[in-house]
This record gives sequence, structure tokens and C-alpha cells, in this order.
Amino acid sequence: MKSLVVSLHDVSPLTQPLCAKILSDLADLGVYRTSLLVIPNHHGHAPISENRSFQSWLIRQVDAGHEPVLHGYFHQRQMKKADSWISKLTTEIYTAGEGEFFDLSLDEATKALSDGLKDMAFLSRKVVGFVAPAWLVSDAAEKGVKNMGFVYTTRIGSIRILKPSKEVKSRSLVWSTRAAWRVLASLGWNKALAIAKNGAPILRVSIHPADVQHKLIWWQIRKIITTARRERECIPYELLVERLAWKSL
Ligand SMILES: [Zn+2]
Repeated sequence: MKSLVVSLHDVSPLTQPLCAKILSDLADLGVYRTSLLVIPNHHGHAPISENRSFQSWLIRQVDAGHEPVLHGYFHQRQMKKADSWISKLTTEIYTAGEGEFFDLSLDEATKALSDGLKDMAFLSRKVVGFVAPAWLVSDAAEKGVKNMGFVYTTRIGSIRILKPSKEVKSRSLVWSTRAAWRVLASLGWNKALAIAKNGAPILRVSIHPADVQHKLIWWQIRKIITTARRERECIPYELLVERLAWKSL
């Protein structure tokens, strides 16, 4: 059977109410297993290690079948004095400053990753996936991800299995709500992409908390998921990667 992977990005105490609404709407569509991309300390002022009510909420979601995934540490990129114009353009305009792992060194990445895993240790299970904020990750930082023992990471256009090393091409659907023109552009683009992906073995749908606040976007996401569910099994990345790892594609 073909697969559908739904991931919810930017899960943190700051977005918890929106995330809860999204997961409840997804459950109404029969989607009970997603990958939850958790930010350990969203923008430096929402540490999950100090937030018991967020911890117990996340434990409940994981117990219900969702997969916890590490998604950066602060999510936001710390500005560097020597930023080149191209770094500024990529991180400030394309991602609104959210590409935390865009140019981290191996040491910086290793520290952020191990701090993140420590903060998620209240979960009784191992975290095996890492997804960089805005999917931007330097080669050095990706080496850190591999060294730390993560099993997989994803980019917007692929799933990277780290053990055994393998890249599976699959472009994710993702919406932008930052400006009115972006909303319109993403509605058109994702409609076309969903049609183009109809026969593909894997369909990836990446949701952000703000998507649920935009009527048309949330309607389109639910419609695409409803259609996909008829002929696809909805599984988290962890399970997909397990199946892909030893299969020759
Ligand atoms: Zn994110």
C-alpha cells in the first residue's frame, strides 16, 4: 500500500493550543499517527524542560501513536556578525530568520542536538528523527546529526536515512501563511503538487500551526489528506524509514 506521512512542525508550549486543535481535526479524518516536530526551547523563551503541563500533553500524544522528532533547539537562527549577503538573503527572507541549523559548525550542532535530546528525555521512548528548522542544515551540522545516532532526517525534497545511508526523493507539500500572496501561491502550488503526486509511493504533508488559522489552507490540507487516506496508509516517518531502509528503491 502507498504511504502518507503527515508531520506537524513547530510543536512547543507556544503553539500547543493550535497543535491540539490540528491533531483533533486530523483524528476526525482518521489520522492518528503523525510525526511531531518538537522545539525544545522555542525562540529561547519556551523551555519544555520546565513545563510540566506541556510534557504531560506530549506524553499523551506519543502514547496515542504520534512520533516525537527533534526540530532544532531554539528554531531561530542566531545572527552572526560576519553574515554574508547570501546567508542573510537565505535565512532572513526565505525563512524569516528561522534557519537555526543553516550554518552551524559541527561542535555547535552537536551541542544543540544533545541539549535537545536531554530536554526530551522525559519521554519514555527514544527520539530517532531530526528535522532542521526550515529544512536548512549545513553539511557540518548534518554530520553532527549522524554522529549523534539519529536514524533519519528530512529535507523539503527528500528523506535521508542515515543508517544505512540512503536518500529517498519525495517533495513535501508545505504551505506558507506569512503574507496574502504566499497563501494564494501555496494553495495553487500544493493543489498541483497533490495531483502530480497521485501515483507516487510516498505523499508527504507538512503542517505548521498557523495553517489551521487560515480557512482556505486548512480546508485544502484536510481535503488532500481525506483523498489520500482512501488509498494510503498514514504512518509516521520513523515507520516509513524502517520500511525503506532495507528496500531497494
Ligand atoms: Zn519549523
